[in-house]
Amino acid sequence: MTEQTHFVEIRHAQKSFGALEVLKDISLNVERGQIVGIIGSSGSGKSTLLRAINDLDPLTGGEIWLDGVQVNKTLPHRQYEKHINEMRQNVGMVFQHFNLFPHMTARENVTMAPKLLKGLSQADVDKLAEEQLDKVGMLERIDYYPSQLSGGQKQRVAIARALAMKPKLMLFDEATSALDPELVEEVNLVMKKLAEEHMTMIIVTHEMDFAASVCDRVLFMDKGVVVEEGPPSVLFKNPTQDRTREFLRKHI
Ligand code: ADP
Ligand code: MG
Repeated sequence: MTEQTHFVEIRHAQKSFGALEVLKDISLNVERGQIVGIIGSSGSGKSTLLRAINDLDPLTGGEIWLDGVQVNKTLPHRQYEKHINEMRQNVGMVFQHFNLFPHMTARENVTMAPKLLKGLSQADVDKLAEEQLDKVGMLERIDYYPSQLSGGQKQRVAIARALAMKPKLMLFDEATSALDPELVEEVNLVMKKLAEEHMTMIIVTHEMDFAASVCDRVLFMDKGVVVEEGPPSVLFKNPTQDRTREFLRKHI
């Protein structure tokens, strides 16, 4: 076996749901601090690939490595549970639908996991909630419930919640797709700020302008394969593959 040398390393990822092969031999490396965008039509396997990184949709073939540790290891059940819980603490995920706990305030949403898993004092919990919500511009709404927040505000709380675990890697799966157009920018700005702070991120998005402005590299996926990848200046302006050109014609 070769040494794992990249921060995130996806090696020959293959995933089938029954007879349906959703990921076909995908390999991808992400270095620390890099921001990788993934674009592609609905059904091309983008979400499945992101979920595989946390072993939420375990691969049927291939390996996922994060910071020198294989995520999708075969282990006896108990050991696997311990291993995957540790691994998942390193990875923050933000989905299209905010998945905030409706009966908890922004503060409680942000601190629930770290409180449970890191045994923080009440003073540390308060400080963490304030820090993280301030970072996404939501400090003023710290004691609001999700039902009292707009979609953009909810998504910013969801980002703060993911950041509160101090992840090494952030995964965004169409974080702005469910938002009214006027609320997209406030969420994009938070992601841009994380980019400036050199957070390692993999971002699935339908927003080509946003991908072009924050990503170091963009991958175009279609039908379970990476058709083409490159820096946004090349992929968006001079794609080499017909399938990429056709997709971009429809989406830019
Ligand atoms: P994307 O995020 O690019 O829209 P997905 O990764 O969600 O694509 O889905 C890729 C394909 O896998 C789709 O055809 C979808 O229907 C299928 N799929 C996703 N999850 C499951 C599942 N749990 N069971 C069966 N098929 C699934
Ligand atoms: Mg998806």
